[in-house]
Amino acid sequence: MPGPKPHELWIENDEPPFLVVYQAYFGTGNNGNRKARAIAILGRLKRGTWHCRRCADQLPDYVRADTLYCSEGCRKRAARERRKARQSRLGVMP
Ligand SMILES: [Zn+2]
Repeated sequence: MPGPKPHELWIENDEPPFLVVYQAYFGTGNNGNRKARAIAILGRLKRGTWHCRRCADQLPDYVRADTLYCSEGCRKRAARERRKARQSRLGVMP
């Protein structure tokens, strides 16, 4: 699934008071999904969950609002680690 368009939404202030800004569509002035995304990202900033689950870096502002990892590399490394832990728990030899 393709991610949201970059540069349409950005995190202006990543510490309290948090501020997430988005750009309305040029010409029409409609917001599409951007307001909902801004609210979701703001909620995660407030709850302190706007960081990568593996490397704990802050997530970039061009990813989906429900993303868990900063990059495909982190997502795959985390999956590999989970698989390795599961296999050693079950006693499976590679
Ligand atoms: Zn990461």
